[in-house]
Amino acid sequence: MKYIDTARFCHDNTKLSGSLMALDLPRLAAEVLPHSDFVVDWTAEGVSPDFMDLSLKSTVQMTCQRCLTALPEQIDVSYRFKFALDEATAQAEDEQTDDVDMLVHARQFDLLELIEDEMLMALPFVSLHETCPDAGALAFLPKEEKQNPFAILKTMA
Ligand SMILES: [Zn+2]
Repeated sequence: MKYIDTARFCHDNTKLSGSLMALDLPRLAAEVLPHSDFVVDWTAEGVSPDFMDLSLKSTVQMTCQRCLTALPEQIDVSYRFKFALDEATAQAEDEQTDDVDMLVHARQFDLLELIEDEMLMALPFVSLHETCPDAGALAFLPKEEKQNPFAILKTMA
């Protein structure tokens, strides 16, 4: 699976699914915690005459912007796309509706690229733990205080 003939895909109500890994999605791999692994489970379903439903599920390790350690983010998104015959029609229809995202029919449509684009869009803009793990927070304290956490409490009181 990489290219689909979109007209046939929609007309036949084709259903495809699979799993993609970090190696398949280098642009996404560059945005998550370095060297972390992930799997993206995807389903694409043609809906006659011109629609495609795309679902993506994954858990990716992001980097917490506060403590710089791993932060798992669950991605679970669904989109409906509509294919137009040409770019001008796609743009015109795109301005008229918020319900679907417009794409252009192609004999060799790059489904992999679309999946990667949508995964990138689904990533949180900023990743932050609700409460950062203690180990991460303590790593930023000077050595002496790290050895004796009670010393910190004393100075705070
Ligand atoms: Zn954190």
